[in-house]
Amino acid sequence: MSIKKLWRLIGLVGFFTLLVWVGGTLRNSPSTSFDVTRDKPLGVNTSGSSPASPSTVSTSSPSPSTPASPESPSTQALQHLNPSTPLGVDTSVSVPILMYHYIRNNPDPNDTLGDDLSVSHDNFKDQLTYLKSHGFTTVSLDDLVLALTGSRDLPQKPIILTFDDGYDDMYTTAYPLLRDNGMVATSYVVTGFIAKAGYMDERAITELDKSGVVTIGSHTQYHVDLSKQTSKRAATEIIESKKKLEQLLGHTVNHFCYPSGKYTDEVVTAVNGAGYLTATTVDPGNTHTYNDRLTLTRVRIHGNTTIEKFGQLVN
Ligand SMILES: [Zn+2]
Repeated sequence: MSIKKLWRLIGLVGFFTLLVWVGGTLRNSPSTSFDVTRDKPLGVNTSGSSPASPSTVSTSSPSPSTPASPESPSTQALQHLNPSTPLGVDTSVSVPILMYHYIRNNPDPNDTLGDDLSVSHDNFKDQLTYLKSHGFTTVSLDDLVLALTGSRDLPQKPIILTFDDGYDDMYTTAYPLLRDNGMVATSYVVTGFIAKAGYMDERAITELDKSGVVTIGSHTQYHVDLSKQTSKRAATEIIESKKKLEQLLGHTVNHFCYPSGKYTDEVVTAVNGAGYLTATTVDPGNTHTYNDRLTLTRVRIHGNTTIEKFGQLVN
């Protein structure tokens, strides 16, 4: 063997050893190590270039109809994002993130707020049928993060479904309809309310998580207005709710939702510091960039939203 060939061989062996080592390191690191832009200023929209067109269905995308393991493929992909991955800061994607609360018939007609927050089983079913028949594909918030970093293409007409507060009808009513339609969603749980009257218990939350249909996110410990708390209390609400859910589910919880959509710059910084990858607001809109991932806008679905109105909102 010539000296030249020998050096080439040594180089190849070294390269593959490095690959194996990097792979092992990433696998062993908690997914909160995904902090690609922790040092980037938040809320600064560096986009401004042409919006990325949601393109063809990525073959690596998990099929909504095939339930994933608790650590979903997209979560694994997030863990394998190399911190040196060039950021898709120019990537702006258009994905409506629908905001639901109850899927039920409001039990108290005098409760006007409850009425507004309650979408009936039949209306919800019609809305899912609409999405299906109009070519929408539900994607997860993990998928959105990957799309915003330019690491994954989203399918044509992607849409995200979110449910706030962790009410028990998420488990009894929304989940079976989502599952039967091969759709995925996110449920934001208020950890201090788990198993209280009207809220899901630990068994239901765990089952949703394991199903691969529903991603569990945090909605604080006690649904307080974070913009009005001391820094310490806000941090506790943000961090301890994450910890509680991670202990229950046995894996990282990546997504957060501000109670009543209330946040300040300081609150956003705390959410970022806690290791969440996304946070949703009640601010309206459906175009997202990586730098806006902790103040994601949503589309509110009201109790009286007709199917015609629903069609306008998602299109
Ligand atoms: Zn809420």
